[in-house]
Amino acid sequence: MALMNKAFLDLKKNYLFIEIGKRVKEYIAAHPDNKIIRMGIGDVTQPLAKVVVDAMKKAADEMGVKETFRGYEDSGMGYDFLREAVAGYYKSFGVEVSPDEILISDGAKSDCGNIGDIFDASNDVLVTDPAYPVYVDSNIMGGRKVYYANSTEENGFAAMPDDSVKPGIIYLCSPNNPTGSVYTKEQLKVWVDYAIKNKSIIIFDAAYEAFISDPALPRSIMGIEGARKCAIEICSLSKTAGFTGTRCGYTVVPKELMIETPDGEEMSFMQLWCRRQGSKFNGVSYPVQRAAEAVFTPEGIKQTRETIAYYMRNAKVIADTFDGLGIKYTGGTNSPYIWFKCPDGQDSWTFFDRLLNEAEVVGTPGAGFGKNGDGWFRLTAFGTYENTVEAMERVKKLLK
Ligand code: PLP
Repeated sequence: MALMNKAFLDLKKNYLFIEIGKRVKEYIAAHPDNKIIRMGIGDVTQPLAKVVVDAMKKAADEMGVKETFRGYEDSGMGYDFLREAVAGYYKSFGVEVSPDEILISDGAKSDCGNIGDIFDASNDVLVTDPAYPVYVDSNIMGGRKVYYANSTEENGFAAMPDDSVKPGIIYLCSPNNPTGSVYTKEQLKVWVDYAIKNKSIIIFDAAYEAFISDPALPRSIMGIEGARKCAIEICSLSKTAGFTGTRCGYTVVPKELMIETPDGEEMSFMQLWCRRQGSKFNGVSYPVQRAAEAVFTPEGIKQTRETIAYYMRNAKVIADTFDGLGIKYTGGTNSPYIWFKCPDGQDSWTFFDRLLNEAEVVGTPGAGFGKNGDGWFRLTAFGTYENTVEAMERVKKLLK
């Protein structure tokens, strides 16, 4: 009989959203007429921008005409028009990357998971705790040992490196899911210096960069001195432009980035990533790449930023509520997540039940993102404004 990858036995049960779903289902069964407000899952609720839909429709029409029909895309890296648009977008916030350092994909989750194929199983991995689960799970599946850098109340949930580990791979996410914290340029420089010292590679997840409004905060690690020698950046249009169901992302791999071969030589990381993608991935559909290109036009930026402003108005409603209640939180200003300390010293799951049963609001227990998440709780700003306001009225009543 075929033998399974035994590393899968080391995965934690995928229990967070299943357990949330179970508890919510039971509550609804017992209270079928009540209105539950969901502020747990990080999916968007607002439709695609008109400019994006128009581009997608136009491209779909082209696909139905012999002269403009497209099959496989030759380079496997994504169409030039989209890679140039992404490079132009970076330039708009002062970061130089070349179109041939950009690979288009179907989203950041796949890239975060697939990038592991490039690394030997002997690399130790450093992940901030709490973290978006794919960083941990994909490395456990790959048989690698995972270490944690602690994000805590004391460091504002922005973990910094220490010398207890010499990792081959480091995962950073800023603005952070789940904690909403954002690294400063100075903090990212510390991580870059640490990676260069240890010859590590940083995988920087910038999925929420578009939510940064403070010009002093870095939207990309690529603008940090030294990062081009030690980092790749993964980003996505899921939250930037509501592409969670449309699927498009990109990875920036600088030309200078090298990885060690078994003989101690250096090899281009981009060469290996292209090789990996060429073997296992056949690209993103033409209409979706045209839709993504439209996001980066001036009109696309305007329309998608209006949607982000809508979500950030929700974030402000949530943040103001916790300010008013005197409850400590991170996020909510340059991030769509609000990560707050469970009141009365409750653990995350006890508070989950209290919020569900007494306010009929669903959030995400911080414990589901790592051990440092216990006692903390995540709410998202991706709901409708009306529901957000109503949920916060309920929270005020509950916690006053
Ligand atoms: N990275 C982070 C930090 C996320 O929170 C998410 C989605 O919630 C993703 C990546 C996945 O994005 P995508 O939809 O592009 O796969």
